[in-house]
Amino acid sequence: MSEPTTLTTLTTWKHFIGGRWVEPAAGEYFDSTDPATGRTLYRAARGTAADIDKAVAAARAAFEDPGWRDLSQTRRGHLLRRLGELVAENADELALMESRDNGKLLREMRGQLASLPEYFHYYAGLADKIHGETVPTSDRAVLNYTAREPLGVVGAITPWNSPLTLTTSKLAPALCAGNTVVVKPSEYTSASGLRLAELALEAGFPPGVVNVVTGYGAEAGGPLVDHEDLAKISFTGSTATGSKIAASAAGRFIGSTLELGGKSPQIVFEDADVPNAAMGVIAGVFAAAGQTCIAGSRVFAHRSVYEELLERVCERAKSIRIGDPLDEATELGPLAFEAQRDKVAAYVDLGREEGARVLTGGAPTDGGTGGCFYEPTVLVDVDNSMRVVREEIFGPVVAIMPFDTEDEVVGLANDTEYGLAAGIWTTNLSRAHRVAGRLDAGTVWVNTYRAMSPMSPRQGFKASGVGVEHGTETIKEYTRLKSVWINTSEEPVADPFTMRG
Ligand code: NAD
Repeated sequence: MSEPTTLTTLTTWKHFIGGRWVEPAAGEYFDSTDPATGRTLYRAARGTAADIDKAVAAARAAFEDPGWRDLSQTRRGHLLRRLGELVAENADELALMESRDNGKLLREMRGQLASLPEYFHYYAGLADKIHGETVPTSDRAVLNYTAREPLGVVGAITPWNSPLTLTTSKLAPALCAGNTVVVKPSEYTSASGLRLAELALEAGFPPGVVNVVTGYGAEAGGPLVDHEDLAKISFTGSTATGSKIAASAAGRFIGSTLELGGKSPQIVFEDADVPNAAMGVIAGVFAAAGQTCIAGSRVFAHRSVYEELLERVCERAKSIRIGDPLDEATELGPLAFEAQRDKVAAYVDLGREEGARVLTGGAPTDGGTGGCFYEPTVLVDVDNSMRVVREEIFGPVVAIMPFDTEDEVVGLANDTEYGLAAGIWTTNLSRAHRVAGRLDAGTVWVNTYRAMSPMSPRQGFKASGVGVEHGTETIKEYTRLKSVWINTSEEPVADPFTMRG
């Protein structure tokens, strides 16, 4: 049995299937490391197809069990509310767990944990508001109505950069709609999803409604996506993996919701409040060490404010305190694992080869704690043809470029395969509204960045995703629409070739 309540000593986590801790079928485990120190934190079960089979079977049985299938929507809402309360009650533990597992600042995790219960509460409130409607017919004796039904077993595959929040974005609406779920967390951050599943059981969700199988992408994620009993896959991760998953789902005619990568632009116009815009640039790309899908990693500044913006961003970037993510004074924690740090370093080296100039940063560091950190880095002398400007780096690296006209910058901002998010900095309301309408991005922030809530739907455009998460809209992703026709006429059928309708 695992010790799920603390990560202060080396712990072994098994799979969580059917409400129980289950040994991996192959008997194998893998290490998860604290990126701030390089030390092993815990061992997690190395899942394979056999574990996925078990988890999907448990989820399928729970889906068909009257204890879940016939539970009223109001009661489903109560369970979600209780889960939100339990997340709030265990916030300190969850924040610490995640901070140690992926290197996120403890203070950022405390902020996330303060809002996370709201996601469960939002979908708790929505649970008894999911319904179909009556549809007009041309015959008074015929009743036609629609019903919104749960899909069945939903697979949720999540990345390592914000495991709890990204798992919740899938789990809460999927449960709200009456589905059962098998979660496959990232192999770099297995623990918090397991703890969340345990809290779901404690909240009163029947065993098997929430299951977690840990392991690697190809070994555990692949068999989940390909499982014949899966009704839907909800994935957050890289565009490359998302593309494979979408192809597999399409081949079996099941739906997929995909939240993928980004290379989001931030545009600073000549009429912007430049000190604020500089703070927005810092928040957009250096928070979470740039390991966010929405990182504002391409900055376009009007030529008249370009130098001032550069100066302000560089000055603040140089003073960012790098170090132990558990220390309240730290502003930049480590990359989540060594290979990610190496990837960031390789991109900056590539940028240099491509002709970019590093204004500040540009080197790995151990952060004084023996971990895998990278300095906040500002690149200039760059343009849209360079790989450092086109490809997702997923680290604390920003490319800053000047522009001259609104039309030009809209073209530059949209010249990317991605379409996740964008920032606009201007004091001109007409321009803000006009440019927001022209940007090819699912989320546009004006004079702010990274704002997010369970109430606000979000969708990646182009290679950044398919389908909607958050808000009421996402319920459609987790339900199917049935149309029921009832002939209430007591008259005999006169003509079998012209039925009532
Ligand atoms: P990744 O695609 O490597 O892995 C994501 C998950 O998919 C992991 O759980 C992994 O084990 C699993 N996986 C990998 N290969 C698989 C396969 N063949 N079949 C099934 N599952 C497989 O992504 P990552 O490196 O963990 O995460 C970073 C990426 O996630 C970035 O591109 C980032 O932009 C993106 N992301 C997007 C959003 C969003 O909302 N759009 C949010 C956060 C992160």
